[in-house]
Amino acid sequence: MNKEHFSVPNKPFSYKLFIDGEWVHAKKGKTFSRESPAHNTTVGIYEMADAEDTELAIEAAHKALEEGPWSKMSGAERSKILIKVADLIRENAKELALIETLESGKPITQANDEMEWAAGNWDYAATLGRHTKGESYNSLGEDMLAMTVREPIGVVSMITPWNFPLLIVSQKLPLALAVGCTAVIKPSEFTPGTTLKLGELLTKAGVPSGVVNIISGYGDPVGVTMTNHPKVSMVSFTGSTKVGKLIAASAGEKLKKVGLELGGKNPQIIFPDVNLEEVVDAVVFGVYFNMGECCNSGSRILVHDDIADELIQKVKEKSQQVQTGDPLDPEVKVGPIIHSEQKDKICSYMDLATSEGAELVLGGNSDENEAYVYPTIYDKVTPNMTIAKEEVFGPVLSIIRFSTLEEAIAIANDTLYGLSASIWTKDIDRAMVFSRKVKAGTVWVNTFMSGYAELPFGGYKESGLGREMGAYAIDEFTELKTIQVHIGEKTNWWLNK
Ligand code: NAD
Repeated sequence: MNKEHFSVPNKPFSYKLFIDGEWVHAKKGKTFSRESPAHNTTVGIYEMADAEDTELAIEAAHKALEEGPWSKMSGAERSKILIKVADLIRENAKELALIETLESGKPITQANDEMEWAAGNWDYAATLGRHTKGESYNSLGEDMLAMTVREPIGVVSMITPWNFPLLIVSQKLPLALAVGCTAVIKPSEFTPGTTLKLGELLTKAGVPSGVVNIISGYGDPVGVTMTNHPKVSMVSFTGSTKVGKLIAASAGEKLKKVGLELGGKNPQIIFPDVNLEEVVDAVVFGVYFNMGECCNSGSRILVHDDIADELIQKVKEKSQQVQTGDPLDPEVKVGPIIHSEQKDKICSYMDLATSEGAELVLGGNSDENEAYVYPTIYDKVTPNMTIAKEEVFGPVLSIIRFSTLEEAIAIANDTLYGLSASIWTKDIDRAMVFSRKVKAGTVWVNTFMSGYAELPFGGYKESGLGREMGAYAIDEFTELKTIQVHIGEKTNWWLNK
């Protein structure tokens, strides 16, 4: 692991808006800044776009779509450029990781890893650029041959959250670009730095002007304009279920396609026939990774009665070794919470857990003046408690006990969410019954939170709509057209019948 020490730069990062290949000021001349949640200092100064800037970005993306060259290039040409972007992300990983840690509070070693995962998505998307294909029908009779072709869906608005800024835009953008789409991107107002820096790398890699436009600003008016605008064909959104529903409603008015990656309340089910050391590691990683500010967070542990006490003791011991503090320190695993409202929200969930009767095993506290919430564990959580059902988005673990597989499946499915779930058991029948019955977009067996660019990702129920990544992304970012070709002399259908 890279143990290099980083420090806060003397000068904040600063980017203008990236519209039609140019770096421009917001029309109204307003800016906003981002404070590092760990260091109480300004680390980013950005232009505050409004509806007018957003419209210019959409017009640029639309012009690039209509006129090319991107949408008209061969897949092979586009793929070469996507691979260059992957290489440039790797070359700039140190700076990107630093920006991300300063703006989000995530540990620097983790931010470094994320840059590699992001680059990997660009590499993978390059393979799809050459495999965007349809089907042919040679079974329609002697005089007919038909085919389906995939066409870029058009201008895609991409609206992203603050928890994995470069990684999440890299789950959307390279795949949409691979099939020939153009894009307008709005990163979260808390973490715009790396997405804007990506604009620089796209230009260096040879992505033509106007193909990707990146604007910093707030949900309203920027995100709202990106959702409503008639020249946008699809909105690809990652964020809260609350905002996802607003976007779906407003895009529904215009019948735009939406892709929604939303919240989760993901269960890990643990049976007694497993190596507890492996499970403990996955439990601790699952809940404290990215301070628990993770859609995939394993915030619900369902443990079999027979091993509950032993597992909880081991999880507690391991959790006590998790270092919380300055995210620039390479030993730290849990950094600060993104902002004070999120910290207050986590604290109010902890208060509710206590008042509803959960038993505090560890933590339950936060630093009054700083942005940290310490690793927290609640035992004796019951499925009807708020902490068992709602997304806390913090380093807080709920432990629920069960005795049968049927009971575990019922508890696992008893939330509005359905993003991911895992089961730990050596019994293949049990693992497969669970995998079939759990309502979740991803199921892990004897592992947790692994992910691959090759595999689609997304949620059931209120965790989202559609899937990202994998070859499925071709369907997500294209329209399907049917072409019917008559062969030979045409017999009249109407007059000479
Ligand atoms: P959020 O919904 O508050 O914001 C997400 C983005 O939407 C931001 O860029 C924001 O500016 C923008 N936005 C806000 N209001 C808008 C509006 N009315 N119209 C258009 N855009 C608007 O989410 P967040 O707090 O940034 O992120 C945390 C949430 O994201 C959690 O619920 C988490 O589970 C979810 N998330 C899901 C996934 C996934 O893949 N399923 C991944 C990461 C995060």
